[in-house]
Formats: sequence, structure tokens, C-alpha cells
Amino acid sequence: MTRTALREALIAADICAPEKAKMRVGQLWRWIHHQGVTDFDAMTNVDKETRARLAERFTLARPEIVERQISADGVRKYLIRFAPGIEAESVYIPDVGRAGALCVSSQVGCTLNCTFCHTGTQALVRNLTAGEIAAQVQVCRDDLGEWPSDKDERKLSNIVFMGMGEPLYNLDNVSDAIDIISDNEGMALSRRRITVSTAGVVPELTRLGEKTGAMLAISLHATNDALRDKLVPLNPWPNSPYECSDWATIEAFAAIVNKAGYASPIRTPRGRDILAACGQLRSESKKVRASELRAMAAAAGA
Ligand code: SF4
Repeated sequence: MTRTALREALIAADICAPEKAKMRVGQLWRWIHHQGVTDFDAMTNVDKETRARLAERFTLARPEIVERQISADGVRKYLIRFAPGIEAESVYIPDVGRAGALCVSSQVGCTLNCTFCHTGTQALVRNLTAGEIAAQVQVCRDDLGEWPSDKDERKLSNIVFMGMGEPLYNLDNVSDAIDIISDNEGMALSRRRITVSTAGVVPELTRLGEKTGAMLAISLHATNDALRDKLVPLNPWPNSPYECSDWATIEAFAAIVNKAGYASPIRTPRGRDILAACGQLRSESKKVRASELRAMAAAAGA
């Protein structure tokens, strides 16, 4: 939950009176997002009775890591299950940014189906909630042993919304997640170290800037609209119709762009051996139609 949602939930659950809510939210926030606790009983500055009542009404449980892979170059890929049939991937890339970056997903599947992208072959199942997006960071910090972490020693310093999904088609949840992740009393990842990458949903760009103050990356993929429309409507994945240019071609292209006065750093693909590089993410989650859900419920004798 965001701070506002947490405050409302505590009051609605009669955990505290409105005038005490700010203090209570501050306490819980430190335990959840700075200490990373997943058990109310660990909150030693909260009285026992309140801890018990919190545990009756709320959970701090993490989503399940269904699969964890580590590539030869140190990249870690997590397949995370948020609910039955709702799974998405996120990827930790060491030695990127100030210390290391986590590539998070914002949707299960994707609204778009860029022809070079593995996620694009998976129809949109649903948007991830703010909590599910923030949970990818919490899961990674658990795995890196980053609770509580001093800003200077941490291994996870940057967040990139370059995983599964088009973040600008889920902007409200992405924005709330950035509020949770960047809060200085909690995980305290600076908004200047959070990059939202979009395939170019122009109408939402201004709102992204106003709501999040995060950094922006726009994936052009092509030098002209005709080709762009064909590609959006790169890294190899099983049955991918494309292959990567050779290094000399990539360097020649970067040199042309540089000569024209535009910085064009070449990003080295990481984690290809575990399908963790850009455009290689995908889960087996499928959108289940309401009729199928009803049939499944009926079959289960619900
Ligand atoms: S490149 Fe991005 S927008 Fe395009 S299909 Fe893949 S995840 Fe979706």
C-alpha cells in the first residue's frame, strides 16, 4: 500500500484513531520498507495487542518465487507468482547504474505485441498492482540480503521499468509503486535512479513526468515510422523471426549517431543464457475468460 492507502486501511480496520494514524503509518512503514519484515511480531515498538490485531486483518507475505535462475554473468532472473495463474518475471543486473539494477515488470503479458519481443507473444493477462510491482523490489532485496541497507553499501541502486508490459498502459499503479519504492523512510531508491521505459505511448508521457518525476527512456527501435509500425503494432528468443546485428554493425551505427551529436551508448546484453536479456521475458500466464473461471469453479464443485 501507499502511505495514503495504509492510513485509510488502518482507520477503516479500527487499528488506530485518525489522529494517531500518521504516527502508526510511520512506524509500520519503517518496519515494512526499511527493515523488510514479513511478520508483525517483529515490530518491537508496536504494542502486542496492536500487532495481534494487525495480523488478524493484514498480511506482509511476499509473493512466491516460482523459479530463480542465475546466469554466467551474474544476472538473476525471478519468475514470481502473484496469484494463481498470475506470474511475471523480473531481472537483477549487477554492476549497472551505481551498483546494480532491477528490471521490473508492470503487466502480465503486454498490451502491445512488438514483433521482436518475447513478452509481445503473450497476450495481456492483467496489469500488476502497485503492491505487486513494489514486491518485485522486496523479493530481490530479500535475495540480495539488503535489509536494512545503508544507501552506500547497497547492491540494488537502480530500477528500470523494462520488464514485461508497457508501463504507460498501467500508469496509476506504476506511479504508486514508484512512490512506495522511492520513499526516503523506506527503500529510498531515488527517483533519479528509477527509469520508466515506454514503446512510445505519447499521450501519457506528460502525466508520467508530473506524477512520478522518474527518468524516461523511449524505445525507438527504428529510424522511420514505417519500420516502427512493422516492429511495434530485438535479443533472440525461441522462434524469434529476427537475429541480432553483428557487433561491427552495431558499433558503426552508434558511431553515425554519435557523429550527429547524440550520445549513443551501446548496452551490452546480459543474462542471455537464461533468457533474461531485454525482450526475452515471458511467463506462461494466460488470461482466463470469465466463462472458463465459472466452468472451473463448477468443476471444483464450488
Ligand atoms: S517491447 Fe515492451 S511494449 Fe513491446 S511487447 Fe515487449 S514488453 Fe510490450
